[in-house]
Amino acid sequence: MTAVRRLSRGPRRGAWWRRLWGAGGTTIVMACPAGHLVQLVQHSISPEGIVEPDVACAELGCDFRDAVRLLDWVDLAVPA
Ligand SMILES: [Zn+2]
Repeated sequence: MTAVRRLSRGPRRGAWWRRLWGAGGTTIVMACPAGHLVQLVQHSISPEGIVEPDVACAELGCDFRDAVRLLDWVDLAVPA
């Protein structure tokens, strides 16, 4: 098992952030080390920010694929 890549909060390369998406919704996106945008729509994110399954960049020619953890993760869908 490879080490988990820890992403700080962006928006910038190699980080994650929230982005407005659709009708008033938000989605979680991250940028791979090459700067490609990756949506984490088909992933689950634990309360600790651990993303399942591994994240793979869909950009042609980019081989980024890693287990990631979102630092400073706060799930807005869960009432405080
Ligand atoms: Zn990429």
